[in-house]
Amino acid sequence: MTKQTPETIDWSTLGFNYIDTGMSFRAKFRNGKWEPGKLSKDNTVRMSEASPVLHYGQACFEGLKAYRTKEGDIQLFRPDQNAKRMKKSAEQLLMEAYPEDQFIAAIHQVVKANADWVPPYGTGASLYIRPFLYGEGDIIGVQPAKKYTFSVFVTPVGPYFKDGLLPQAFLVSEYDRAAPRGTGAVKVGGNYASSYLAGKEAKDQGFADAIFLDPATHTKIEEIGSSNFFGITKDKVFVTPASPSILPSITKYSLLWIAEKRLGLKTVEKEVYLDEIDQFVEAGAMGTAAVITPISSITYQGKTHLFSAEKETGPITQSLYEELVGIQFGDIEAPEGWIQIIQ
Ligand SMILES: *Cc1c(COP(=O)(O)O)cnc(C)c1O
Repeated sequence: MTKQTPETIDWSTLGFNYIDTGMSFRAKFRNGKWEPGKLSKDNTVRMSEASPVLHYGQACFEGLKAYRTKEGDIQLFRPDQNAKRMKKSAEQLLMEAYPEDQFIAAIHQVVKANADWVPPYGTGASLYIRPFLYGEGDIIGVQPAKKYTFSVFVTPVGPYFKDGLLPQAFLVSEYDRAAPRGTGAVKVGGNYASSYLAGKEAKDQGFADAIFLDPATHTKIEEIGSSNFFGITKDKVFVTPASPSILPSITKYSLLWIAEKRLGLKTVEKEVYLDEIDQFVEAGAMGTAAVITPISSITYQGKTHLFSAEKETGPITQSLYEELVGIQFGDIEAPEGWIQIIQ
């Protein structure tokens, strides 16, 4: 395949695939301090074979997007929240966190350097940004690294669903994603390799993805592959699970705000028991990649619960989606501090 360029790429057929855009950001932690980071054209990494990331999974990551507005500007959605979350992830794995202000500056720098790769307004596509941090060096014992690399690459991605929001069927997994007092609330590498099997089993059976239950009692909905869950009750309450082992989704907290302040819904974060899901008339999954995936049904141990908004996206889900996407692409006024324009 010939190498794609911003001039030859077909923005309308982009999926969620990696394309080397030619410019990423690298910073190294050496001798007890972060060295100044810089742009790099190399999309490969070189490290000691004994690096803790390779054996013990000492790594964390983030995911956010840059959006092209109608005016042609490029803007970021709440990168400060990703900076804060990555710091927590790093601290839980005894890694050297990359300073939050430098994290945000690095995102601006790498997006600016790849500005031609930010898809045009109106295509629904955007530039996915992947910051990550890992431990490296000659370590063989089970202990944290002394050297770290913080890196950011970008890749253009399409709207998750090209034909708009289509409700999808989900399967409750027999596996757990994270332990009750484990690393579920941080975005660390190990959580994801251990969720592959659950995801594959769901997809092999024709489901969109796996839903995980709470690891202690297996009675409550926790979250979905890489998105959080919400349900809308008959009385128009936006409900999303509260649990210490859920990854706190920035999309979720943004939608909680939008639901309350823009759509006038009541919102609540509380335990969501699987045997009480018939209280919901709409349900969905929320995360950066797809924004919202409406849920048509949930299957558990051979029984399927159908939501009333089964064939078509429910009206509240649709409004939540339009409001958030409108803010991200600059068509709808954003709450203060949510948007940063690339200068
Ligand atoms: C990243 C992620 C999410 C979504 O978080 P956003 O900040 O909304 O992108 C949800 N669940 C898991 C497990 C994740 O890794």
